[in-house]
Amino acid sequence: MKIICVGRNYVAHAAELGNEVPDSPMLFMKPHSAILTANKPLYYPDFTNDLNYEAELVLKICKNGRSIQPEFADSYYQEIGFGIDFTARDLQQRCKEKGHPWEIAKAWDNSAGLSKEFIDKSTLPNLESIHFAMSLNGKVVQQGDSALMIYSFNDIICYTSRFFKLQVGDYIYTGTPAGVGPVKKGDILIGSIEGRQMLTCEIK
Ligand code: ZN
Repeated sequence: MKIICVGRNYVAHAAELGNEVPDSPMLFMKPHSAILTANKPLYYPDFTNDLNYEAELVLKICKNGRSIQPEFADSYYQEIGFGIDFTARDLQQRCKEKGHPWEIAKAWDNSAGLSKEFIDKSTLPNLESIHFAMSLNGKVVQQGDSALMIYSFNDIICYTSRFFKLQVGDYIYTGTPAGVGPVKKGDILIGSIEGRQMLTCEIK
C-alpha cells in the first residue's frame, strides 16, 4: 500500500504559501507507516515547531492499473474519504530553500490522518463538486470544493499511473484548499464531507 499526495492542487492554497501553480500534478508520497486512522490522536512531533493541518479528499484505489487512460480513470476508485496531510511547515520551508526532498516534513509517522469510513461515490450529490470542510476547535478553517481543483481526480489518476502502478488499497490525497494553518497541543480537528462528520483528531 502506498499513499500518493498531490501538492498545490488549489489555486488559492498555492497562493497563500507563495507558490506557483504547477504545470503538471506535483506528486509526493507517504509510506504505510504514516497512516493515522480511527480518530486516534496525533502526538505533536518533537522535530517541528510549526505543525500544520491540510484537509484533503482521499481516493481509495480499487483496481490495479498502470498508464490508465482518461476514459477509464473513474473506474479505479469507488470510495472517497477525508484525510489530513499533516506537515512540519518549518522543515518543509528549509527543504524547499535547499532544494531537498521533503519527506522529513511530510512523510513521517502518523502524518497521514485518514477517516475510518469512506463514502461510496455513487451516494454523493455531485461527484464534480464535492464540498468538504475542516474545523479547528469548533471554528471552520478550511472549506473545499473539488470543482476548484486544478487537476481533477481523473487527471491525477492518469498522470500518477504513468509513473507508479496503482494497486488496490492505495490512497491518493488530492490536495488542500486555502486555510491551512498551525495546531498546538489540545487542539481538536474535525473533518467533514458534504456536512457529514468523517474524522476527529486531537493534537496531544
Ligand atoms: Zn497536502
